[in-house]
Amino acid sequence: MSPTDATDETAVAPVYAPSTEAVGGRHAKPASRSAKVNRRGLSGLAGGELERWLAAEGQPAYRARQIRDAIWRQNVETAAEMLTLPAPLRARLDEAFRIDTIAEDEVKIADSGMTEKTLHLLADGALIESVLMHYPARGFVGQARPTHRERHTLCISSQAGCAVGCPFCATGELGFGRDLETAEIVDQVRHAARRLAGTGSHLTNIVFMGMGEPLLNLDRVLEAVEILSDPRHFGLGARHVVVSTSGVVPGIRRLTALGPQFTLAISLHAARDPLRDVLVPLNRRWPVAEVVAAAREHARVTGRRVSYEYVMISGVNDTEIDADALAWLLRDDLAHVNLIPMNPVAHTPWQASTPERVAEFAARVRRGGVGVTIRANRGQDAGAACGQLAADRAGEPPAPAVAHRRESIERQSEVALRGSRSSESLSSELEAAVRSGAVR
Ligand code: SF4
Repeated sequence: MSPTDATDETAVAPVYAPSTEAVGGRHAKPASRSAKVNRRGLSGLAGGELERWLAAEGQPAYRARQIRDAIWRQNVETAAEMLTLPAPLRARLDEAFRIDTIAEDEVKIADSGMTEKTLHLLADGALIESVLMHYPARGFVGQARPTHRERHTLCISSQAGCAVGCPFCATGELGFGRDLETAEIVDQVRHAARRLAGTGSHLTNIVFMGMGEPLLNLDRVLEAVEILSDPRHFGLGARHVVVSTSGVVPGIRRLTALGPQFTLAISLHAARDPLRDVLVPLNRRWPVAEVVAAAREHARVTGRRVSYEYVMISGVNDTEIDADALAWLLRDDLAHVNLIPMNPVAHTPWQASTPERVAEFAARVRRGGVGVTIRANRGQDAGAACGQLAADRAGEPPAPAVAHRRESIERQSEVALRGSRSSESLSSELEAAVRSGAVR
């Protein structure tokens, strides 16, 4: 998945130079977790866990509020900054928890400051990304107040790497590292909030469209949403949270059972199974009709419109046949399509559709009765593709591996464009993820 909307130039920003041991190779798995890393992140405690820990420590209940205020209002990085707490309790917190699960940030600014893409280094060397996008208020002309309020949207990661392996995505090329723990998810939000704090602005929207498939780490994603929407923690209304999926049907059903909590987004990218088998390999397990049926049921039960994300790839999924198939698929649904030109990803043979082709595709889908918005890519010069910064940090893969990958993508897409479904099975890591408890 990738950040979208408006493009511009890149500026700067330094920050850290982790050791090669920390980063590892291109397909690096995080190093084994030391005892230090195994301490849980304090910001990820949910469902009364903090109160129970304090009670076991013989501490009064009101300490929970002081700790939450330090984490979420003061946005502290260390226990030493929690000055409302007595020193012995600060020391105990430091022993028992990590106060900040993110070790270092590298921030790249793009789009004249409207996009901030951050590569986060976690304590075990895993790399993840978040993207902060600023949208000024709009609609002043002839109006007493803006029709569109100022927004600050953060796109966050739920896993280090991703097992789904979509071939247009830099994260998919990196492969799967590990699930993020709850605190590692919400600490991306704390880091962005810390950067915004000096500006007088605050985060207004959070989207789970960064690295990873959120519904393959669903328990922790749900804990993170609970924390982010709880007024005692971050206090963002759950309606301002978008959870995206490439089509994990059992996970969609779990979200539906929870009711109208947040917006569901489906990363569709093709309305025909042969093509979607290639673009989103999870389709070989849950094909288009099953995914859309689950999303349709979600919209019916929750009354919330479902967003469909569609990356536009020149000559691959941007034909008139594809537009008609998309319109037909969603013609009666409470649904909206977002068209996103593909970000350049180093080792695919594909290019983004031209703006003219995207406009024609959008018009054709609209004529078919489905609402469409064309999104412009954000942060083109800052490694806009999801996972691109982590891929750059991991280094160039060997040339034979690149050639093999390109050849495989071209072969599979030729078969798909002839209308045949893929005979390839799921990769072993995707099979393992699908079988995991997250999909129950
Ligand atoms: S599911 Fe999202 S993060 Fe994973 S490979 Fe596909 S586009 Fe990339």
